[in-house]
Amino acid sequence: MSNATPSAQFQKVFGRAPEIVTRAPGRIEFIGNHTDYNGGTVLGASIDRGVTVALAKRTDGKRNFYSTYNGKTVTLEAGAPVKQSGEASWTNYPLGVLAALPHFGQSVIEGFDYYADSDLPAGAGLSSSAAIELASALAFLGATGQHPDRETVVKIGKHAENHFVGVPCGILDQGVSGFGKAGHLVFIDCAGPRFDTVPMPAGASFWIFNTHTKHALVDGLYSARHRECMAAAQALGVKWLVDVSVDQLRAAEAKIEPTAFKRARHVVEEIARVDATVKALGAGKIAEVGALLTASHRSSQHLFENSTEELDFLVDALVASTGVYGARLTGGGFGGAVMALAGPSFGAAQAEAVAAAYAAKFGARPDILPMGTGDGAKVL
Ligand code: ADP
Ligand code: MG
Repeated sequence: MSNATPSAQFQKVFGRAPEIVTRAPGRIEFIGNHTDYNGGTVLGASIDRGVTVALAKRTDGKRNFYSTYNGKTVTLEAGAPVKQSGEASWTNYPLGVLAALPHFGQSVIEGFDYYADSDLPAGAGLSSSAAIELASALAFLGATGQHPDRETVVKIGKHAENHFVGVPCGILDQGVSGFGKAGHLVFIDCAGPRFDTVPMPAGASFWIFNTHTKHALVDGLYSARHRECMAAAQALGVKWLVDVSVDQLRAAEAKIEPTAFKRARHVVEEIARVDATVKALGAGKIAEVGALLTASHRSSQHLFENSTEELDFLVDALVASTGVYGARLTGGGFGGAVMALAGPSFGAAQAEAVAAAYAAKFGARPDILPMGTGDGAKVL
């Protein structure tokens, strides 16, 4: 991340001032694990780290893309976006946004100079991809005088990721980046989708421990979980698992294959935990919120079986630390990162002790990333 302002940096790269500067945050999955494709609910946090985009139109039909990510410029011709590979593959995110715009009735900007900067580690499960999509969308739209509503901007980002980049992500990433608000969590009812914000308790912060581990078969494991959830829904005679209560699921146990039942129990109880978390947040009961986060992890560990030895170790070490309200794996699982919700008595020294214990056991250090909430995507 550069220390200079985005406008000054743009000036340095392109020799003129930008017409528009935008910023969109990364996100944390707070609670609501694998609930999205089951029609359920999820709570996410927009964080105080993100991607900044600066842009100015050109009249010669050239599209210059520069990112501080690798300090290089990629030059493409205007026209229908063509998928890029190799060093230029990061431009698929802004190109995907350009390709998505007409699907939402928005006109496409032809030539431009584009600059991106970030203080969000890419590939750390914090959704830098949604951040760059939403910051790009606001820049392209704003530079052409188009101001669709927030939900449309969110859907443009998701369309780019699903259809141009080719990642089948749910609505969480773009929804939280788009609807985030400092001091708040974002609630998403994925069936709508419907978006809302819920105040975060004062004095609580997030700590992400990124293990840099990833199960070799993660794509296959995701689709297996998806299939198992759909099999349970089918056995229950519903469209998706959000349509059954915890009690209805228990009563129907004999009808469902045992593995599918365990997966369904995780999803149905997790949806109930999201609702309970919203209530506990509203009542200012932070200890209860923390207990729900840890319960979510235990369910991942024993029922959905999308945790790992590394993630379990971090959760155990964190919940045993002073000042931690709760901890859980965040994101799809099978490796990746753990999130802790902590109060002011948990600080760098405590985080360091957890990382050192992990390193002693697994021979590699997790990255420690402390963060707070931040505003959703906006024009600066
Ligand atoms: P995550 O969303 O968890 O960070 P992804 O693999 O979905 O991981 O997205 C990361 C990719 O997004 C990067 O490899 C890069 O192509 C692109 N990206 C994110 N931020 C930037 C940036 N500031 N500049 C250029 N590309 C970026
Ligand atoms: Mg991503």
